[in-house]
Amino acid sequence: MAEKITSRSDNYSQWYIDIILQAKLADYSPVKGCMVIRPRGYAIWEKIQAVLDGMFKDTGHVNAYFPLLIPESFLKKEAEHIEGFSPELAVVTHAGGELLEEPLILRPTSETIIWSMYKRWIQSYRDLPILINQWANVLRWEKRTRLFLRTTEFLWQEGHTAHETKEEALAETLKMLGVYKQFAEEYMALPVLAGIKSESEKFAGAVDTYAIEAMMQDKKALQAGTSHFLGQNFAKAFDVTFQTRNGSLEPVWASSWGVSTRLVGALIMAHSDDNGLVLPPRLAPTEVVVIPIYKNENKTDVLNYAGGIHEKLKARFRTVFDDDDQNSPGWKFTEWEMLGVPVRVEIGPKDMANGNVMLVRRDTREKKSVKAEQAEAVIQDLLTDIHRNLYNKALKFRNDNTSDIASYKDFTDFFEKDSGFAVAAWCGSRECEAKVKEETKATIRIVPETDPSTLTKGCVVCGSKAQALPVFAKSY
Ligand SMILES: [Zn+2]
Repeated sequence: MAEKITSRSDNYSQWYIDIILQAKLADYSPVKGCMVIRPRGYAIWEKIQAVLDGMFKDTGHVNAYFPLLIPESFLKKEAEHIEGFSPELAVVTHAGGELLEEPLILRPTSETIIWSMYKRWIQSYRDLPILINQWANVLRWEKRTRLFLRTTEFLWQEGHTAHETKEEALAETLKMLGVYKQFAEEYMALPVLAGIKSESEKFAGAVDTYAIEAMMQDKKALQAGTSHFLGQNFAKAFDVTFQTRNGSLEPVWASSWGVSTRLVGALIMAHSDDNGLVLPPRLAPTEVVVIPIYKNENKTDVLNYAGGIHEKLKARFRTVFDDDDQNSPGWKFTEWEMLGVPVRVEIGPKDMANGNVMLVRRDTREKKSVKAEQAEAVIQDLLTDIHRNLYNKALKFRNDNTSDIASYKDFTDFFEKDSGFAVAAWCGSRECEAKVKEETKATIRIVPETDPSTLTKGCVVCGSKAQALPVFAKSY
């Protein structure tokens, strides 16, 4: 066991970093801002990937791979896209010992290279839709980085779809937002708000950006996934037209959507505690750890008994048997708690004599002795209950820290003191949004769909007629 983890109340940022380093999820790289994902962290990402990949395929998508290097001229074809991304680009100017004729960009996202290919692949409505996803790394030169949440290079998936009509592309955008929401809630045990972004927060090159947003334990928001309705912007930039069913030529409609290794950071921040990582069971690389407790005189008997139970459990759960002689049981308990394994099974001579096992759940640390033959069924229920408990706890926390706010004084006070999610009326102007950001550091996280005629209060900033009731928060 390494040093003690900083408590959340002492220093939330340090607590987060301590967990990542001590649970060996990731490490700092020799290149500033980059991250080494260690096996324990990568195993969580692999679980996330496997589930999402299945969900994408179930909704009709296929995987492909496009190159890392993009000609600089491609990015310049879509004006907003290049404007938004240019401060974050890393550019290859030399290769093979020579100055390149055209600089190459290390992809920050792949719309441009993919649409340059869609131009070759799409001629008629018969070629549509295209529903491609790519698992890849991307690079954005970030000035302020934080392990998993914001790193210069990160792993993600990016879906890029092409459609005949606006309606289809918009339906796809919302379908994938729904997939992300379902994944967050059913696998990450993370309640999320889903909705549209304001103009100033949208993806560079999109017509509209939708996102899922979660509240972390420090009451800040974390954008956990985005889905963009791209309209015909990239089709026009890359001259991708198709022959419609009526014989006319029209630019293709598009969506793109992505989630990244940031989700691993979201998991840690949302559920973990001062004893270490707490993992939602469906994404935990190890669901159950079996720890035999013995002395020299009963070692063989206890190991045989515990080993038999482990054999049964491992047929049903992702299970580890920790019979390492180097460390004491107490040391192991602390260590496995720090690693976030949802259920610990302790088996000592007394348990053996009574035909029992001791089950300890990671989320509440409650202990319960059960008959060995019931262990499988009880563990199954425990895993389900841990998921439910983590979700409900996160939801209660978000609800307890969400306030409806009407006056600007209350609004600024809120972000100076308690903070959290503030629901407040907004006139829709960029000026009011910018003033809020400047004076409170809070931004509009999502704008739920609302009929403006139902809004009774004026804009929280300027008092004029409200157009929407967005959720404001400080964010990662
Ligand atoms: Zn206003």
